[in-house]
Amino acid sequence: MPGLHGVQIKGDSAMSSPVARSRNLLKRNSVRFAAALLAALASLVAAPNAALAAAPQHHDQAPGFYRLKVGDLEVTALFDGAGVFDPHWLNGTKATTDSVVNALHEDPHMLDVADTGFLVNTGQQLILVDAGAGTWWGGGAFGRLAGSLRSAGYAPEEVDIVLVTHLHSDHVGGLTTQDGKRVFPNADVYVAKAESDFWLSPEIAAQAPKDAQPFFQSAQAIAAPYIKAGKWHTFGGSETIVDGMQLVLLPGHTPGHTGYEFSSKGQKILFWGDIVHALRVQLQHPEVTAIFDIDPTAAAATRNQLLPKLARGDVLIAGPHMNFPALGRLRKEGSGYSWAPVVFTDQWDKR
Ligand SMILES: [Zn+2]
Ligand SMILES: [Zn+2]
Repeated sequence: MPGLHGVQIKGDSAMSSPVARSRNLLKRNSVRFAAALLAALASLVAAPNAALAAAPQHHDQAPGFYRLKVGDLEVTALFDGAGVFDPHWLNGTKATTDSVVNALHEDPHMLDVADTGFLVNTGQQLILVDAGAGTWWGGGAFGRLAGSLRSAGYAPEEVDIVLVTHLHSDHVGGLTTQDGKRVFPNADVYVAKAESDFWLSPEIAAQAPKDAQPFFQSAQAIAAPYIKAGKWHTFGGSETIVDGMQLVLLPGHTPGHTGYEFSSKGQKILFWGDIVHALRVQLQHPEVTAIFDIDPTAAAATRNQLLPKLARGDVLIAGPHMNFPALGRLRKEGSGYSWAPVVFTDQWDKR
């Protein structure tokens, strides 16, 4: 199994950051740039309308957050990083996997994925659903969630509750630093008992195949400081943790994989965890599983049950690995489904 679940870092982002690249470019060009600037200034005297020197290109992007309204809830998607899903991480018929490899030649971005967490401000509580990878995966390419949260106007200390869909480190890594400090020191963390019991069990870890060991080690290290502080809570499935939020048990990907459905004023949003990794494959072929699924048969059955309900119910979906802002709706299309993404706007939609 290629390291951690779900996300592979993009080669270029791992090797040199856009900031470092543009800094080098700027250094190299500074002499030329100064000369051009002087020439441009001189030309201003002669011809006031002459163009200035060509601006260097900038490759860094804007802070990663996007928010919208769901009834009375404010939901903010918090970007943690970007990656590419490897086609060999998909399990399907040979015809389907071959068609994916062929389609990738046509569109190399077809399996681009993101890692995203979501903040729900209910007006009473600040609730984070999944926390990104932090520093537990991706060699520094991820771990932007806390910065995205600050850019969105909040501080990690303000988060009251963290709901985690499952304990793969690309969903919980952002909770804890490598030296074992809680990133959200005032938050109570909630996870399904079946999930917690599985990944935090030394006995199960000892019997797991060698290449699955990192999953157990990271889950245990990430949970440890919250357990020590009495901030780690498990649920069976029928409890009320937050008013207006329902637990949706979605087993298969992991034993206690859980979705969280918030309702407000007749509108619904489901945080669906890892129901889908490769949107452009698994919506047309819900039977295709990922090699990270602990129980692939159950994962496919869960997906087959859930997708028609979501398409019928016009439920807004928050999917951590969908392209940012990682929000959208399902539409029935042929024998499968299509994705109607929420598209970025700088407007706050008051509806
Ligand atoms: Zn994942
Ligand atoms: Zn996962």
